[in-house]
Amino acid sequence: METKIYSLNEEKIDTNIIKEAGDVLKKGGLVAFPTETVYGLGGDALNPDSSKKIYAAKGRPSDNPLIVHISNLKALEKIVKDIPEDALKLADKYWPGPLTMIFNKNDVVPKETTGGLETVAVRMPSNKIARALIDASGGYIAAPSANLSGRPSPTVAKYVIEDMDGRIDIILDGGESDVGLESTIVDFTEGKPMILRPGFITQKMLEEALSEKVEWDRAIIDADSKTPPKAPGMKYRHYAPKGELVIVEGNKEDVIKKINELTNADKNNNLRTGVIATEETKDYYCADLVKSAGHKDEEGEVAHHLFRILREFDEENIQKMYSESFKSDGVGAAVMNRLLKAAGHQIIKV
Ligand code: AMP
Ligand code: MG
Repeated sequence: METKIYSLNEEKIDTNIIKEAGDVLKKGGLVAFPTETVYGLGGDALNPDSSKKIYAAKGRPSDNPLIVHISNLKALEKIVKDIPEDALKLADKYWPGPLTMIFNKNDVVPKETTGGLETVAVRMPSNKIARALIDASGGYIAAPSANLSGRPSPTVAKYVIEDMDGRIDIILDGGESDVGLESTIVDFTEGKPMILRPGFITQKMLEEALSEKVEWDRAIIDADSKTPPKAPGMKYRHYAPKGELVIVEGNKEDVIKKINELTNADKNNNLRTGVIATEETKDYYCADLVKSAGHKDEEGEVAHHLFRILREFDEENIQKMYSESFKSDGVGAAVMNRLLKAAGHQIIKV
């Protein structure tokens, strides 16, 4: 299939292109588009055949459900059975934005979209191109991240093209994603709200909006948990660069020393090495490629750069990568969740 690629400016959206892309979605085709989290691979969420095509284009396991993207609250009422009061509070505060909520679905949402589940994940993105496309498509776009399954999520169109060219109808290039990590997921189907995936909307932000404690799904915190995570996608290897990634945790000097020792040993074995460093440490490493993810205490900045750096290491054929570790609260919880997955949970404590 020939994939059409269009560039769009979020502040001056070309309505002809949006109409063309919306029509493709209405006819069951696939369109990749920018959102504030990462790029999405969209299909009509209410059309089972479109959802099947999404799984095929990504090579995604069919038990890993898709998130349905809407542009207004009215649209939510049509696809879910009931909307808890707490969910409305979060919608009021954080929609549109990088927050996904899980509800009991009603019959208009096909099982193909929800990976066979009776529940549905819903998000209202803030990116204006995404919102225009949702409106032009009939109101419901199912969209996982626009990468081949297992690979780091794309935060710029270049990496969507790398993974999806020839596999989908249209790619809309809207520049770089603001957040750079996938949405926070909160489940509302078991009484109390529960975080199934950490993201830019932090536990503290949720608790502030709800004036109550919000728990985590334990399975995503305990690496050796025997219970499967409630978000099926969290059980899969994810975000993985082509080379091997190891996290090194400890105080600044010890981490630098250890990573330099390890990269020197790798170089002796003729491996190309890379380090995910910070502004404070980037000058101290001797790896072939050193990239700063931002300032150590600015987890939002690190989140914004992380997936892009993993892709850049792939482009440079880096075979062995080391990353510093980050604080694991606030947005740092989301950063560490993605890093640990990308590293297959390989972590060295010094
Ligand atoms: P992605 O679209 O790649 O960001 O992945 C979507 C994530 O949402 C995956 O981890 C899914 O398992 C999760 N998800 C989607 N729908 C549901 C649902 N109904 N219940 C639990 N998790 C869900
Ligand atoms: Mg994904």
